[in-house]
Amino acid sequence: MEHIIYLDNAATTRTAPEVVQAMLPYFTEFYGNASSIYRLGDKSLGAVTKARDKIAASIGADASEIYFTAGGSEADNWALKAAAEAYKEKGRHIITSKIEHHAVLHTCEYLEKLGYEVTYLDVDEDGLISPQELKAAIRPDTILISIMFANNEIGTIEPIEEIGKIAHEHSVLFHTDAVQAFGQIPIDVDRLNIDMLSASAHKLNGPKGIGFLYIRKGVKIRSFIHGGAQERKRRAGTENVTGIVGFAKAVELSMESMEERTKREALLRDYLIARIEKEIPFSRLNGHRSLRLPNNVNFCFRFIEGESLLIKLDMQGICASSGSACTSGSLDPSHVLLAIGLEHEIAHGSLRLTLGAETTKEELDTTVEALKEIVENLRSMSPLYEDFLA
Ligand SMILES: *Cc1c(COP(=O)(O)O)cnc(C)c1O
Repeated sequence: MEHIIYLDNAATTRTAPEVVQAMLPYFTEFYGNASSIYRLGDKSLGAVTKARDKIAASIGADASEIYFTAGGSEADNWALKAAAEAYKEKGRHIITSKIEHHAVLHTCEYLEKLGYEVTYLDVDEDGLISPQELKAAIRPDTILISIMFANNEIGTIEPIEEIGKIAHEHSVLFHTDAVQAFGQIPIDVDRLNIDMLSASAHKLNGPKGIGFLYIRKGVKIRSFIHGGAQERKRRAGTENVTGIVGFAKAVELSMESMEERTKREALLRDYLIARIEKEIPFSRLNGHRSLRLPNNVNFCFRFIEGESLLIKLDMQGICASSGSACTSGSLDPSHVLLAIGLEHEIAHGSLRLTLGAETTKEELDTTVEALKEIVENLRSMSPLYEDFLA
């Protein structure tokens, strides 16, 4: 394949070669079922236990509080549905935000159909929720607050410490979708008063299809997949040993490199933002300027249709996204961009570029040059732009 410039690390990442190496023996050599009695099964169980310890330590949790899932979406579904079920005697009110991932939003809509009431908090123009509004939304029958750690489209980092404090003071459970934050921001579940946390391996150079839900000890939780006794009878199914081993390796690498990597990425991010703002007219940065994931750049370009931009970038070997991987392919503008107050027409012309550890300055320079030319070209064909100039 041609050289590609991969700037869609919020959608997924390249599996690190070290991760693949760590996984390989568990496909063909140590392939035993972790629940089996013989020594071959023990090898798998040992690997799962070691992985669980490492992952738990990375967020300051106990190993018994980590439940492996098939990814971030499953962890989000589980946290919300199980908490709703387990705490329905206390109440049926849930608080979330308008900018959550669809794994949370669509689960909330499902719960509404079952008779739960959901408050969707607004965000300001930078994508931040207001702790005051959160406090005001809490009712005696509120059982759960689910607010994402950092947004996958615009990169805004939410005031998680304050949210956790408010939830704790009101004895309401706090779940956070940390799929984007995990591996990019240090997380301590005790310090932040987090009761449940979702994460996914493929967003931090691990394999796809493996994630975890952290559930604080003492939180009443229902099993999500019924069947065998795996994951302490909460999530049945033969353990994804290779995935779990790969996830732990990815976490190890990502924790080791976090400080240096995110510092470097944030510099590149700000370089890219500055160049686009300076060199492409009628562009607007979406998301908070500083409370922002170190790898996230999101812009709107007026008079441009996002899909055409992506296709033309792809023709030059540049992988980017218009926001969430899940909304591309649909014609609706992103719910996140609408929530920060953009008009439909402007929200359509959005571009998300998310960097990775392997991204270079040269790649960003190539991207800006391509972008300048494409934007100019698309605008030259736009009647809206013509009207505007006239
Ligand atoms: C990617 C993503 C998910 C879904 O995770 P999967 O492992 O792909 O199911 C959920 N939440 C956020 C914020 C994400 O970025």
